[in-house]
Amino acid sequence: MNTEPVATTSDSTSSSRVSTAAGGGETIAQAVDLRKIYGTGEAEVRALNGVSVNFQRGRMTAIMGPSGSGKSTLMHCMAALDRPTSGDVVIDGTKVAGLKDKALTRLRRDRLGFVFQSFNLVPTLTAKENITLPLDIAGRDVDQSWFDTVVDTVGLRDRLSHRPNELSGGQQQRVACARALVSKPAIVFADEPTGNLDSRASAEILGFLQSSVRDFGQSIVIVTHDPVAAGYADRVLFLADGEIVDEMANPTADSVLERMRGFDAAGRRS
Ligand code: ADP
Repeated sequence: MNTEPVATTSDSTSSSRVSTAAGGGETIAQAVDLRKIYGTGEAEVRALNGVSVNFQRGRMTAIMGPSGSGKSTLMHCMAALDRPTSGDVVIDGTKVAGLKDKALTRLRRDRLGFVFQSFNLVPTLTAKENITLPLDIAGRDVDQSWFDTVVDTVGLRDRLSHRPNELSGGQQQRVACARALVSKPAIVFADEPTGNLDSRASAEILGFLQSSVRDFGQSIVIVTHDPVAAGYADRVLFLADGEIVDEMANPTADSVLERMRGFDAAGRRS
């Protein structure tokens, strides 16, 4: 397993620098000069304009930035759900760009976990069946003691036989988190995981994600526009116009809010 950071270009522009967390740490995922261009000519949009960043193992990283700054595009490229125009993504030593469809599917299934804003549960399956679905599809055995640990951590023990429409939004998202974690992925990508939840349910989900980092060493990347959510992370990256323009280690909701006050509408330091 190659966990060495990929060498960066010697170009010293901010868009080609590899950003690492304060204090370093082992790299679990990398973006290497990622570019994503939509359209051509006058209609061209540079959704990612040369993003290079290392994500640390056993840490939660939050990605913030104004609407349209490229957060979802970065997350989708990192999670191998979308292909960049150029550059590469490295997940736990595997370069994504060179993978054929089958290997890509295996990487997503075996090494990555996903949590979406809209929960994305299968309505006809129980909570338990939703949690084990990725393992069932892969034909992998469920590690019962790990399943029990995850279910107890998210507090779903007495809801396992319920279907999604019998669960609150917060409970549905806890099912989605358990589903993401049960296969012990190298890294979990969560796209606005609390975007559809009230503040109490949000705090539960964020607390759970944080404890999976602290207690189980899970690596997590979340996209959020909420300083409170970012305050649960170990590090915050700020995006603007498809570039990483700032970052903060050991953020709190207050320090993130304070930093954001110093940005203009495009998300750059004003
Ligand atoms: P964010 O998640 O920060 O709101 P996105 O990553 O969704 O930003 O979008 C970044 C930029 O790329 C925006 O200008 C957006 O309009 C553009 N974009 C995203 N997806 C597409 C697409 N499929 N086609 C054309 N432009 C897109």
